[in-house]
Amino acid sequence: MTEAKIIDGIAVSKRLREEVATRAAALTAKGVTPGLAVILVGDDAASAVYVRNKVKACEQHGLFSALDRLPATVTEGDLLKRIRQLNEDPKIHGILVQLPLPRHIDSHKVIEAVAAEKDVDGFHVANAGALMTGRPQFRPCTPYGVMKLLEAYDIPVSGKHAVVIGRSNIVGKPMALLLLEAGATVTVCHSKTPDLAHHTKAADIVVAAVGKRNLVTGDMVKPGAAVIDVGMNKTDEGTLCGDVDFESVRNVAGYVTPVPGGVGPMTITLLLVNTLESAERAAHAGV
Ligand code: NAP
Repeated sequence: MTEAKIIDGIAVSKRLREEVATRAAALTAKGVTPGLAVILVGDDAASAVYVRNKVKACEQHGLFSALDRLPATVTEGDLLKRIRQLNEDPKIHGILVQLPLPRHIDSHKVIEAVAAEKDVDGFHVANAGALMTGRPQFRPCTPYGVMKLLEAYDIPVSGKHAVVIGRSNIVGKPMALLLLEAGATVTVCHSKTPDLAHHTKAADIVVAAVGKRNLVTGDMVKPGAAVIDVGMNKTDEGTLCGDVDFESVRNVAGYVTPVPGGVGPMTITLLLVNTLESAERAAHAGV
């Protein structure tokens, strides 16, 4: 029995981040430092960690970052006002509002308030539509990161059958569109799919983006398939794990991503890429 090749998201991230740093320095030398504004509302501990990591990654790679911490009680109106200010700020090329937001704030309204040309998360309806119609401006960071992992390991996508488990707007749906764009035949599974294993067993590429540990086990995977684990869950011991039962899957798959160290680091890396490219576009347009 041959074991799956482990896809090293940390190593791929490192290479991409070095490239970001080089391009950011070149742009800074021309007088434009790529800038990311991050807005954190409330004091959710997990969100605070994600935001800290994003700000740190910017600082380490030559991007400027501005963090706004707003209280959980901030009104929707005040949050929208702040976003409008950032939309007008020439130092800012990317705006990210950390989700989830408190219940009294309409997330859709907030996402649509971010200028489409600064929407580095790629969640704005204009960017979702651009992706849907094959002319993406910003690809959502997590699925974009998955595509970069497949590319880095020369895993063929065109002509292959990909199964995406999960249909959220931030991971599952854009993931399916990116795979489709790359020439895969795509099946999207979700909580109403009656026989998940029937689909995954036929897939050359499986992307699990659900949030349920051990959802994908070795007996559900075709020998040699690439299994990409987007899920982030906790084990009984409180450590991080994904949706894939790594130990059983690694004995069947051709490639598998670990959690941690697979997709996770790629999400922030592609946020840096999207911010840099936004700044490059703005510089080119003389904004
Ligand atoms: P989400 O909005 O909760 O969506 C989960 C999806 O899984 C839904 O489409 C749901 O189906 C589907 N689902 C639930 N139970 C299922 C089952 N038993 N079989 C098949 N599908 C099932 O979550 P998300 O925001 O997409 O995130 C998914 C996971 O990825 C989470 O663990 C999240 O923490 C993680 N994540 C990781 C990163 C990273 O950087 N690594 C980034 C973003 C998210 P319905 O639509 O029918 O409800």
